[in-house]
Amino acid sequence: MQDIRWRAFWLILSLTLICLIIWEVQGAELALLTFAVSITLYLFHHLYWLDKLIGWYKKPDLISMPIATGAWEDIFATIYHEQRRHNLSKVQLSAALERFRHAASALPDGVILLDDNNKIEWCNKPAEQQLGLLLKQDINKPIVYLVRNAEFIKYLEHHVDIEPIKLKSWIRLDITLEIQLVAFGSSQKLLICRDVSNQEKLEHMRRDFIANVSHELRTPLTVVGGFLETLSDMEGAVPENLRNYFEMMQEQTSRMRLLIEDLLALSQLESGATSPEETDLDVYALLNNILNESKSLSKGCHNITLDADQSLALIASNQELHSAFGNLVSNAVRYTPNGGTIAMKWEEQNQEAIFSVTDTGLGIEQHHLDRLTERFYRVDRSRSRGTGGTGLGLSIVKHIINRHQGRLEVTSEFGKGSTFKAVFPKSRIIHKQITMLQ
Ligand code: ADP
Repeated sequence: MQDIRWRAFWLILSLTLICLIIWEVQGAELALLTFAVSITLYLFHHLYWLDKLIGWYKKPDLISMPIATGAWEDIFATIYHEQRRHNLSKVQLSAALERFRHAASALPDGVILLDDNNKIEWCNKPAEQQLGLLLKQDINKPIVYLVRNAEFIKYLEHHVDIEPIKLKSWIRLDITLEIQLVAFGSSQKLLICRDVSNQEKLEHMRRDFIANVSHELRTPLTVVGGFLETLSDMEGAVPENLRNYFEMMQEQTSRMRLLIEDLLALSQLESGATSPEETDLDVYALLNNILNESKSLSKGCHNITLDADQSLALIASNQELHSAFGNLVSNAVRYTPNGGTIAMKWEEQNQEAIFSVTDTGLGIEQHHLDRLTERFYRVDRSRSRGTGGTGLGLSIVKHIINRHQGRLEVTSEFGKGSTFKAVFPKSRIIHKQITMLQ
């Protein structure tokens, strides 16, 4: 550009000098005429090349680029280089895109690119097969026009970057798909579908195995337990020096029975085969029952209190919440030394219904808290066994609360005590009218 400016400057300066010389030699008229004609020619020259440039730019290809002279040579040369660079990066970009498409097509998982209106921008072959799409004809169509599955549509509307969902494939009923929506770019989304049928089958087999084994063990254990009890009750049947052993055998069989009952309960909850039988549950009445049960478990060794909002009810399963709340309270009793306090609370806070159990017991170290609800996870094996625990209580509690769209929160201070909270969403809350008895 600097060059072009200098060239124009020197040209006009030379022309002016020539015109001044003509003025001196031939007079002013000829000088002005020369100046005007030269400037007009100069202008036409530029207009000519400008027109050429515009003409070329409408179809910019390197072969047909005009070959100019003078200042325009520089301009065309610069454009030529830029165009070449642009073409080169276009080729590289297309190659990279092609490579990406090949890689994405080779993925065993289905991948679909959606724009901000959930229209399909691109998808790979597995996605076509899993969701019954055909990219050629479905491109730019809203995915909800093509996948008419209520659960899928709901997930698509509300959830980006959260837990994936599992759905039965609507193309092949023996296939289970795991679907996850991930946000990317400014407003686009990536829908990833994975065939998890094998994992599901394995999980199913595992659950069935546990349920069957537990079921099969239940009958012989009941028989053994029954005979032990009968023999213990029969006068003279058990020699006095063996009575201790008999008591231990009875204790262990009843522990095993509890374990089997918990395993059966857990596998039933995990299978999700039956949804909870939900009613307008009078939580206040339920908690009063649990208070009585916990008092008999504690045998008067703890100070147990209940502070419950009588008007706060819940849409929930009576049997399941009895088991979950009962478990939390029995844990508090079992892990609180004699003389300790256990406070139960049922209240509404920030439009959520909360049941909390606070104890002044042994407490749990922070690093255990995340793992408490794992099956058979125990903070201290000997401590738990001594209290007659099965190691499945909190797993059951968590499953039940999750089935009610709630969450379990645990806070604890080692040596001071713990608080277990079951928090339920607003959608499950019912406010009851309280009629005062005279
Ligand atoms: P368990 O049948 O062994 O009690 P749970 O699943 O009910 O099994 O509880 C898991 C572990 O969490 C227990 O082994 C115990 O160490 C700990 N835990 C549960 N509740 C309390 C509590 N209120 N105070 C202290 N520790 C607790």
